[in-house]
Amino acid sequence: MNTDEKIYDVCIVGAGFSGLVLAIKLARAGLLVCLCDLNRIVGRKILSTGNGRCNFTNSRMSKDYFYSNSDLSFITDNHQEIRNFFKELGVFDRDFDGYYYPYTNQAKTIREALEKEVDSLNIDLYLDNRVTDVDYNNVFTVTTSRTVIKAKKVCVASGGLSAATLGSSKVGYKLANKFKIPTTKLAPSLVGLKSNDICLKDLAGVRAVGNVTYKDHSCEGEIQFNKDGISGYPVMCISRFVGFDELDKALSDIRIDFIPYLTNEQLKEEIKNRFSKNQNQSILSSLVGFCNEKAIEQVVSLSRIYGDTLVSKLDDEDIENLVYNFKCFIVSINGTKGFDSSQVTAGGVDLSGIYTDTMEAMNQKGLYFIGEVLDVDGICGGYNLTWAYTSATIAANDLIKVMK
Ligand SMILES: Cc1cc2nc3c(=O)[nH]c(=O)nc-3n(C[C@H](O)[C@H](O)[C@H](O)COP(=O)(O)OP(=O)(O)OC[C@H]3O[C@@H](n4cnc5c(N)ncnc54)[C@H](O)[C@@H]3O)c2cc1C
Repeated sequence: MNTDEKIYDVCIVGAGFSGLVLAIKLARAGLLVCLCDLNRIVGRKILSTGNGRCNFTNSRMSKDYFYSNSDLSFITDNHQEIRNFFKELGVFDRDFDGYYYPYTNQAKTIREALEKEVDSLNIDLYLDNRVTDVDYNNVFTVTTSRTVIKAKKVCVASGGLSAATLGSSKVGYKLANKFKIPTTKLAPSLVGLKSNDICLKDLAGVRAVGNVTYKDHSCEGEIQFNKDGISGYPVMCISRFVGFDELDKALSDIRIDFIPYLTNEQLKEEIKNRFSKNQNQSILSSLVGFCNEKAIEQVVSLSRIYGDTLVSKLDDEDIENLVYNFKCFIVSINGTKGFDSSQVTAGGVDLSGIYTDTMEAMNQKGLYFIGEVLDVDGICGGYNLTWAYTSATIAANDLIKVMK
């Protein structure tokens, strides 16, 4: 138990990306700050971000890259500020078509830069301390698995439910409920989808470019087919909608357009031209080049045509079928691969209960929420770390103002 009567200005629950940014900003302003985390090191999850490279921001930045049940007009383009923050910590970056990574291409550069700054600012760390409760009685009392901490303000930066092995818990939502701050439904996002579709028997292992549509939501990129489902950038992008529909038992099929660069009419014309130019070719060799060859095989077989059929034997109805199956290849899905496999949690502490110009809870003065625990999730591309930074900065500015 913590026997000294130290009262921190701010106790931060969670030493992940948002908690670390907040702690650094507050300590630089001279506030007495501590960070609690259930892990034995700070920023454990950062190591796994961006496939070990940490895509920490993006030059295309606006509220349109984020989802929430609330208005996000307060989100502006701050990617240069984030780059500068890390540059000051000694991290030079690389720009890959607008996606920013540390120049080393190693996520550990980001984690270690944050850790080094936390150390040099003498921020107290309570690691291997799982926060179990927070109470308020003139000051806040934060109870962990090992100690009790007193603080004038508390900021909950405990993240979502994703990637449990890297450190996650329900504590943020539990505290919101305790202090009567509304929360929304939660669903895994940026996650692969489960499927038993028969097509996966032949497509497993294939990576094919295409446009993936789920209900009204579409995204283009490389789709990865596995024996038990589909993943890849476009699948991840639409996964949050599947996640919420799974909760509501309202799942629908996925549609894949393997040839998104041609309209149906253009594709029909293109196929007809090819067929008429080389009548003695087999259907499979005639279609080479339109998209991934395994996808072509699937589309041909779905159109009930044998792969060695000569194109001279095919009629307009066959061409119509081919066009339909190339442009609207259906994969039935059973849901997402769940929180443990997801990169981010969609939904969370409802912004309707939070002042978005300070990140303070409306129902409890001095209690703040930042990062993924809030009902804001971004698409792939550095947006979730940007949100963690943005919300930490908003809270830091307010805390510095009110504590000074
Ligand atoms: C595999 C993977 C790859 C990703 N890649 C990217 C990427 O490249 N770019 C991007 O923008 N986003 C990426 N993300 C998402 C991004 O990492 C998160 O959105 C971001 O880290 C959220 O920051 P946060 O501070 O809110 O939460 P977190 O970083 O999750 O930090 C929360 C902290 O709270 C601690 N904690 C939780 N409960 C308790 C408790 N009860 N007591 C004490 N401590 C607790 C956790 O241990 C953790 O350290 C990725 C996520 C994953 C899983």
